Amino acid sequence: MKILLVYPNAKKEIIAWGDKGAIAEPIALEYIGAIGRDCGHEVKLLDLRLHNDDLDTTVEQFQPDMVGVTGYSMHVLRCLEICRIVKRIRPECLTVAGGHHATLEAVDFFEPEIDLVVIGEGTGPFRSILGCLEQGKRVEGIPAVWSRIDGEFVLGGAQAEFDINLIPQPDRTLVPDDRADYFIDWMKPIALLRTTVGCPYRCSFCALWRIMDGQYYKREVDLVVEELKQVEEKNVFIVDDEPFVNSKRMMLLAQEIEKAGIEKNFFSYCRIDSLLKDMDLMRYWAGIGLKRLLIGVETIFDYELADYNKRQERTQIVEGLQAAKSAGISLFCNFIIHPRYTHKEFEEVIRFIRENEVDYPSFTIWTPIPGTNNNYEDVIQRQANGRPNWDYFDLQHPVTETTLPKEEFMEQFENLYQVFASNYLQAESPMTVTAMNEKHVAMGDPSVRLAMKVLGMIATDKHG
Ligand code: SF4
Repeated sequence: MKILLVYPNAKKEIIAWGDKGAIAEPIALEYIGAIGRDCGHEVKLLDLRLHNDDLDTTVEQFQPDMVGVTGYSMHVLRCLEICRIVKRIRPECLTVAGGHHATLEAVDFFEPEIDLVVIGEGTGPFRSILGCLEQGKRVEGIPAVWSRIDGEFVLGGAQAEFDINLIPQPDRTLVPDDRADYFIDWMKPIALLRTTVGCPYRCSFCALWRIMDGQYYKREVDLVVEELKQVEEKNVFIVDDEPFVNSKRMMLLAQEIEKAGIEKNFFSYCRIDSLLKDMDLMRYWAGIGLKRLLIGVETIFDYELADYNKRQERTQIVEGLQAAKSAGISLFCNFIIHPRYTHKEFEEVIRFIRENEVDYPSFTIWTPIPGTNNNYEDVIQRQANGRPNWDYFDLQHPVTETTLPKEEFMEQFENLYQVFASNYLQAESPMTVTAMNEKHVAMGDPSVRLAMKVLGMIATDKHG
């Protein structure tokens, strides 16, 4: 069987700057591709962020029997569009949607162009789907898979128990020609690595912990090191929801990486309190190549930190920023800008970033994202069917009413990028310049803001 896996590109009319600021490897599809190949099928991965005009020709030439798409909320409508194109060219092709949004709001994929919807960790269900097809059976009754029965989508059962140590390594050979093009600002080329899945925290604006039912799964350290040995890229982004929860395990991982002689530049997510609780650990990681951390500061206002159930206070954030600096680790910090912000809050955010000399600030707009306890009642941007217009759920557009007039709010939001563009030019710089579409490096240059926004999208990847 021929399987085509498609990573969607963002809609350019929504995100005028497209996908050009940062593009990380499509690791979710590399996991699925590994299953496909392991089951003996021919697998192709098309990354539309790098090849945005290649969908039609790829489907025409490859003639897939199955097409799989994945994505966050902002990709929903594009994924549907991709599957419609596939069905137009090859009506008999089976289309499967999975990933973040499908897990939280499968209903958005209950459309004629979709045959199956996979929820949760996709590798197990995908293997079961292939098993069914190999035996010539109808795909139905598979746990965590919605399939159409008598015209209605029916869930085949609850997700099976998850064992993180049983999932295969992502197949990084699926996109050999693209690998050099994957980057996150100055880190180019970059590979992604997953050492844990899930999160034990319960932040109210975040859906990640809900995807794994609040569980936190840790991979065996030796499996992580084995995988890392095979990663060719010098830069590695640890994309765990929160890797530094367990200090002992992370120290063991660092020691094993060092023992194996692996030399990489690491970039990782980390909570401020995880960082503060064991600075010896952070210094050890800095010693084996940890260059920077992506910290969700989220907000500098204690009332919002409480509202977000972040379980930390502004004083800890300030302490954490200073501690990271003293350990020689630079920080990429994301700030959630709430639609209720007025000039006063915008000014305070700017003052905080300046006073605390945040290396790489990035900004996302608070959004009632799927999987959080928020409902969509207040969402203004809607599709014709009444569902939210997911195109705008990129955390760079307000989807609910703003206190300031919307245009004024967006001016203030854009201004944040303008004010801090120079940070991106000062920190780690030579490659930053290359990554930001070369040459245009003047402070406030649109390409600089573009890269900062896309870095904000990395936070989007995490939460939206
Ligand atoms: S925001 Fe981070 S720490 Fe909070 S629940 Fe989500 S992944 Fe966990």
